[in-house]
Amino acid sequence: MSRVLLVANWKMNMTRVEARAYAGDLGSRIGDSSGRVELVLAPPYTALDAARDPRGRWALAAQNLSGERAGAFTGEVSAAMIAEAGCRYVIVGHSERRTLFGEDGPLLSRKLARARESGLIPIYCVGETARERAAGSTRETLAGQARALADDPGDQPLVVAYEPVWAIGTGLAATPADSAAAATDLRTLLAGRRDLRILYGGSVNPGNARDLLGDGGIDGFLVGGASLQAATFAALAEAASA
Ligand code: PEP
Repeated sequence: MSRVLLVANWKMNMTRVEARAYAGDLGSRIGDSSGRVELVLAPPYTALDAARDPRGRWALAAQNLSGERAGAFTGEVSAAMIAEAGCRYVIVGHSERRTLFGEDGPLLSRKLARARESGLIPIYCVGETARERAAGSTRETLAGQARALADDPGDQPLVVAYEPVWAIGTGLAATPADSAAAATDLRTLLAGRRDLRILYGGSVNPGNARDLLGDGGIDGFLVGGASLQAATFAALAEAASA
């Protein structure tokens, strides 16, 4: 069985000093036992270096990237820069990027292409809003969001994070059955991909991780709030590997 993938999305939290302290704390809590979980930290760009584990027990992800390669794009960070900074993964299309920064399918397709050019593995986020869920259109929403992957090479590893918007940061996680159903839909939509892992994200914590994994269908979690304390993230890793 492949390892459970746990990705810590710190969002706009953690200075370099805080990231260094977190990394030291996490390292001492997990010791040599990263075992059955693959850990990934996604700090802000400025803290990537501070969050690195010299012993390689976790990988790094960026939270975003530019859809352009280089040039006059003030404030943007390119895929090549992210790869050079030591990232293996990059989060693409987080719901906060979609809703707060207006990122749409065509832009996300360009970001996916840039990620591939630099050898980064995308963690592509999808998920329905509360209104779409109430209208019974979750499947259509996921299908629409998956269209941005149409030109993404199917022989490359891909991580898709199912993150219902209503579950992000609300304390109201999806049920294991809901997340397993969404994972099944996504696997159908993305049939033919050689190396596809599906994560669930939305109010995951050490108390609900086992149930969410237990119902099958998902390969791990994208974690926001519960990743901000090393102790909680380590407890999540422990729960996910039990
Ligand atoms: C997220 O924003 O990706 C997320 C899953 O947040 P939280 O775990 O806080 O719901």
